[in-house]
Amino acid sequence: MIVPVFNSSSEPLQSHVEDDGDMQTATQAKILIVDDLPDNLRVLSITLMKQGYQVQCAKSGSLALSSLQISVPDLILLDIKMPGMDGYELCRTLKADPNTQDIPIIFLSALDDVFDKLKAFRAGGVDYITKPFQLEEVLARVKNQLALRAAKLEICHLNAKLEQRVQYRTHQLLMVNQQLEQEIAEHQQTEQRLRESEKRLEGILNSLEDVVWSASVQPQQILYMSSATEKVYGRPIADFLQNSNLRLDVIHPEDRPRIEQAIHSLLESGSLDLEYRIIQPSGEIRWLSDRCYVIYDQNRIPVRIDGIVYDITDRKRAEAQLFHDALHDALTGLPNRVLFMERVDQALKHSKRHKDNCFAVLFIDLDRFKIVNDSLGHAMGDQLLIVVAHILEDCLRTTDTVARLSGDEFTILLEDIEDLSGATKIAERILERLAQSITLNDHTVFISASIGIVFSSTGYEQAADLLRDADIAMYRAKELGKARYAIFDQEMYSKTLKLLQMENDLRLALDRREFLLAFQPIISLPTERLIGFEALLRWHHPELGSISPAEFIPVAEDTGLIIPIGEWVIYEACRQLRIWQQQFPQANALKLSINLAGQQIKSPNFIQRLEQILAETGMDGRCLRLEITETMLMDQGEETIQILSEIRALNIQLSLDDFGKGYSSLSYLHRFPINTIKIDQSFVSQMSTEDENFEIVRTITTLAHTLGMDVVAEGVETAHQLAQLKTLGCEFGQGYFFSKPLDVSAAMSMIAGLS
Ligand code: C2E
Ligand code: MG
Ligand code: MG
Repeated sequence: MIVPVFNSSSEPLQSHVEDDGDMQTATQAKILIVDDLPDNLRVLSITLMKQGYQVQCAKSGSLALSSLQISVPDLILLDIKMPGMDGYELCRTLKADPNTQDIPIIFLSALDDVFDKLKAFRAGGVDYITKPFQLEEVLARVKNQLALRAAKLEICHLNAKLEQRVQYRTHQLLMVNQQLEQEIAEHQQTEQRLRESEKRLEGILNSLEDVVWSASVQPQQILYMSSATEKVYGRPIADFLQNSNLRLDVIHPEDRPRIEQAIHSLLESGSLDLEYRIIQPSGEIRWLSDRCYVIYDQNRIPVRIDGIVYDITDRKRAEAQLFHDALHDALTGLPNRVLFMERVDQALKHSKRHKDNCFAVLFIDLDRFKIVNDSLGHAMGDQLLIVVAHILEDCLRTTDTVARLSGDEFTILLEDIEDLSGATKIAERILERLAQSITLNDHTVFISASIGIVFSSTGYEQAADLLRDADIAMYRAKELGKARYAIFDQEMYSKTLKLLQMENDLRLALDRREFLLAFQPIISLPTERLIGFEALLRWHHPELGSISPAEFIPVAEDTGLIIPIGEWVIYEACRQLRIWQQQFPQANALKLSINLAGQQIKSPNFIQRLEQILAETGMDGRCLRLEITETMLMDQGEETIQILSEIRALNIQLSLDDFGKGYSSLSYLHRFPINTIKIDQSFVSQMSTEDENFEIVRTITTLAHTLGMDVVAEGVETAHQLAQLKTLGCEFGQGYFFSKPLDVSAAMSMIAGLS
């Protein structure tokens, strides 16, 4: 039996044949002789054994079968005629048994009939030896049959080997097949995963609001554009795939040359980052940011360009808005100072190149804007500014620039005018238009403006100088009575320079101890006795001599210097009065009036400083009277009432100075804790000549008395005025008629003279 032995990974091991012996050699071959004649058995067995065969003998068919149970021979020599089971029958039995059917059987028989021989072959015999047999013949036939059997076995063996090999190959093929199937399955899985990942990528790309694109370099052709294309470009993707130039064609004509030039250098630079406009089929213009990169193969040859396009329209709009906001006034939408100065600068440069090209700058300040703002509120004030902006725009050509500098200040740049009259005509037109009433909601407002004009022909170098001079001229217009224009001239400039110089000197004046106080007596009108003084500030300039407070106080207010200066005045006045009080007991009954500026009471720690000064100088608040103006009351409303009450809490009295000069309404006077009203000298001095002024003084006096306040008449210069004031019941007077402001020693003599 052939048993193939496999190992799973290699060729089968050498196959082997399981058999009972080596059939190839006669010496080992086993031969069973079946014959009922002992002589035959003997002769044959001796002969065969001599030849080296192993011999078994059986005298009958049944014995032969028993022998075969024990050992299976390689050949059987079988006698036909035997008692019991004859040769044919035994042969047929053996051939029917799978264990014995392959054993070659040579019949031995005395029968030499062809029929017998045929019968022998039919029974399964392989040869036939006729008795009496020739031993050589027997040996020869035995040898033949054994050889034949060996050959058969060999063939069987080879067949088995072949079979084994076929099986092995088949198995191998099966294995390969299995492996292939596995690989195919894996490949299919990979492909599936790839497809899924492609789908995912496609999904991601399509969910982007930006256009992802890819183009081949040679030929130049769009390979891919993501679905955002339709939204960003307003065109189907297919249009771009069919026409590679379309991406360039849709670029705004103004941007295209720049972009074409940039693309030209793309293969060299390797990447680009561009911003440009496109025009959608609807005509809408969108801003795009296009970033692209060149993709190279392993030989550094450019093969593809990949890019991403973002729609940056919103960002660009926001930038433009920011840019616009940076250059425009939020309230009126007019250009602001920055843009205006830029335009003036350009106009200046242009006029330098073209000498005939003249321009003018107008500086406009509304005259009573503050009053509108304070009385009608800031919202109305804002509305008024918007209306004024429109009026100004209406008065100009489109080529002119009107800007809002700040608050109620506007500027105008008039370009391309022939001479100064071009500017004055516009100024007149503006004044005329502003003179008409303006209706804001239900309110009718009257407004006017002061306009300063500067003309370009004067050889300016800087835009700021033009604006400065227009501003100076505007102030001149205000000084001249407002609601008018003034043209800048050199005299104004020198005046301004003088002011600037004064400002600088004023900064040093405190340290240089250039300030002094003068004391103007205040007289009780019924008794004509001295009841106190008003402390008036004097500045002795080292070069210019004495400068009037009317001149330098506004400068001190503009620069904020009024705060330290004003503090010095309070301190110095208290210190001086204290000295007098210590020298003269009668001075204790005197009251000293001290002027305050608006900024002083607005300063955060004013009350504390006041308390400190009282403490430091040992002054009793009862001896002081602080003079405030109507404007200070109007400016600060409730806040002012609070501060004034705090002053009163220090026992200091309050006077309302220059009453009648400002715009204060008599109706709200009672709201403030004021003790005294000082009637402005303009009414007092004109009292004798104009009945109207006399009536005003009377009204003010009556009102003051009604409100429980005293009255001081300022600027009393004549005995007649004194007499008139007395008849009106005015309590106090101050003026040259009694005394000019006195220096310390003169004031002291006056006190000393008091009984
Ligand atoms: P004021 O407070 O109304 O002071 C009265 C001004 O009228 C003083 O002018 C005084 O010299 C002047 N005067 C007095 N009697 C007569 C007269 O009979 N006829 C005429 N024509 N004038 C008379 P002064 O000293 O030049 O002061 C002018 C203004 O300067 C003051 O007006 C006041 O508003 C301001 N001022 C003076 N000193 C100070 C100060 O220390 N602080 C503040 N904030 N302002 C001051
Ligand atoms: Mg005063
Ligand atoms: Mg006054």
